[in-house]
Amino acid sequence: MVSNHSTVRGDILRELSTRKLPRSRRPEARVPDYFGLDVLDVHKLRERLPEGIYEKLSEVLHGDTGKKIDEAVAAGVVKSVREWALHRGATHYTHWFQPLTGATAEKHSTFFDPTQKIESLDVSTLSQQEPDASSFPSGGLRSTFEARGYTLWDPSSPFFILEGTLCIPTVFISYTGDSLDYKSPLLRSCRSLNRTATLLCQRFYPEVHSVIAELGWEQEYFIVDKAWVQARPDLVMVGRTLLGYAAPRGQQLSDHYFGSIPPRVVSFMQEVEYRAHLLGIPLEARHNEVAPSQFEAAPVFESMNIAVDHNQLLRELMNRIAGKHNLCVLFHEKPFHKLNGTGKHCNWSLTAESNRGRLNLMKPSTDPKQNLLFFTVFINTLRAVHIHAPLLRASVATYGNDFRLGSHEAPPAIISSFIGSYLSGVLENFIKTHQLNLDSSRSYMGHGIKEIPELEKHDTDRNRTSPFAFTGNKFEFRSPGSSVNPSGPCTVLNTIVAAQLDDFYQEVKGLDVEGDAYRKALAARAEEVLPVIFNGDGYTEKWVVEAKKRKLPHLKDTPRALASYVSNQTVEIFEKMNVCSRRELEARKDTELDIYVNKAKIEADLLVEMVLTHVLPAALSHQTRAMKNIQEAESLGIKHPVLLAEIKYIANCIESLYQEVESLQKKLKEIRKIESIEEQAISYAEEIRGIYFQRIRTWADKLEAKIGDEFWPLPKYREMLFLR
Ligand code: ADP
Ligand code: MG
Repeated sequence: MVSNHSTVRGDILRELSTRKLPRSRRPEARVPDYFGLDVLDVHKLRERLPEGIYEKLSEVLHGDTGKKIDEAVAAGVVKSVREWALHRGATHYTHWFQPLTGATAEKHSTFFDPTQKIESLDVSTLSQQEPDASSFPSGGLRSTFEARGYTLWDPSSPFFILEGTLCIPTVFISYTGDSLDYKSPLLRSCRSLNRTATLLCQRFYPEVHSVIAELGWEQEYFIVDKAWVQARPDLVMVGRTLLGYAAPRGQQLSDHYFGSIPPRVVSFMQEVEYRAHLLGIPLEARHNEVAPSQFEAAPVFESMNIAVDHNQLLRELMNRIAGKHNLCVLFHEKPFHKLNGTGKHCNWSLTAESNRGRLNLMKPSTDPKQNLLFFTVFINTLRAVHIHAPLLRASVATYGNDFRLGSHEAPPAIISSFIGSYLSGVLENFIKTHQLNLDSSRSYMGHGIKEIPELEKHDTDRNRTSPFAFTGNKFEFRSPGSSVNPSGPCTVLNTIVAAQLDDFYQEVKGLDVEGDAYRKALAARAEEVLPVIFNGDGYTEKWVVEAKKRKLPHLKDTPRALASYVSNQTVEIFEKMNVCSRRELEARKDTELDIYVNKAKIEADLLVEMVLTHVLPAALSHQTRAMKNIQEAESLGIKHPVLLAEIKYIANCIESLYQEVESLQKKLKEIRKIESIEEQAISYAEEIRGIYFQRIRTWADKLEAKIGDEFWPLPKYREMLFLR
């Protein structure tokens, strides 16, 4: 007997075995020949702009005066941009912005002006537009004031062409100037960090004129055949599996990490890389990740604003290209139970610029003065992370990331920093002696292979369990989730460090940086950071206990973490650093809470539906057959005690599952009556996700493990995860 249920999975299996795969669109040309062809950056713009215009634009971009772009400059830019875009085959243009949904938004208009029969782009269109903003999240900023929202050209991000549309990167702000997006606070935080870090650097090197925050992200993701995804309502609607019996083979063989990439995926990656390179995204690394069907892409680091644009753009590109390869990219932080979740490591460093060149402030050197500057920035960064740990935690708090942080595969929700044994020794010695002995004790790693030269031991080993690890020339913030706009965590990081550098600058501004008093002041700060340093295994229970002793906050879920966005401490530094006002911070927190509650509601409703319309009918069909068998056997005098026990077991699972679904529905009704959104969110976190979802999943997964394969309608882990 073949049930209707079996047809979906059966059809997919048949389709997969006969389907022809698209050929890779790898170009003949070499990368340098096409890299950045679809981008108009400042350098290219400079070549195209009329005399004198570039210099004026540059003043706006690099000056610290908050100057406006005047009409003549805008007109010059518009002319050059239009010519370039039409020449590259663009037919439409759009303001491209990053609303608080986490995705990007665009509304295309054609260049073609039917009244004049020309292709045009005017100054006002370039610099400002008023999209219908009322349907983007604003955390109440617009309803309380004005419903209007404006997108304004961000001249520090390059123009680019995506699928025939010229994209003009913009910020998105309200009528009152409040930020409605991720980009505007990020730009403000970069500017503040630039200001305070430059002042401090100038104490060491007066020629330093600016300090740039750099970001190198590592984007993890899963890939699943599109056909399987379409047959799973949970993957389609919420991007993760709400149910699913873990395949007997998961990641325990450790055979996927850095393994050979399946040919289908290579072909997808090649096309992504080609398109990314056209858009100037400097992708360099690609490899398998730990879990089956999990991968990673990473570019060379760039200045933060551009790196963030590129991360947003890459995810967009991957979604578009995957479809053509019959694949689906999952950016959710935890798509599969019992397998590693996905993150987006944010590698962060600061570069000082002067007419003598560029200096990475996060890299120790052999020059004592440079080292003292490195150490100053290093200690102050750690101090910022220590004081503002709850806020840093909030910056990575999302519905999806709550499934990942602290699950023994990603950093715990306790913020601490790994600096390695070498730097810990340097730090302790500095606190005691006020002497900085930075490069004297480098050691070499013996590997016992004579034919291969000794390896220089890095200042840090590879502790993967730390949320915020120093990795030799940068800090790596490992907590951000894979699906988020990296601006959120980066804005917080920039702001807390900017404020801390400002504090420290005020403290030492009368001191000679080469004198004892300066080192004494720094040593006092260094002593204060000790509790936030943890070089051990962050996945253990022992660390949770130890962290509590050290008074490090442990904010387990998003609803509790988000409160830090509006603590007095946060508001004080965000206002002082001109990054966000209290109102903007409140709006941000409310938006995040709203998203949290909505996602939880959607998942809960979907789970109920999937159990009622997929799982239980399948289990009942299976039971019907089993009971028929046993009846027939009994009529022939054959006894089946084991089968009978099995039927009872399944009946118990079915009954329990019904009961759990009913109590979930009851609980949901109660929660919907709660007025405060904070309390609603906490109930969703602690009760719905923490208890009800898990109970339902347990019963449903037990059934999946027992029900005849031909009855089970939902693609199984073993089918989805071993893509070939
Ligand atoms: P991991 O061992 O963490 O997987 P990867 O080599 O994959 O490291 O990634 C390192 C990332 O760090 C890359 O995105 C790279 O561009 C970035 N990176 C390297 N140096 C810096 C730096 N000075 N500042 C910021 N990011 C950097
Ligand atoms: Mg990493």
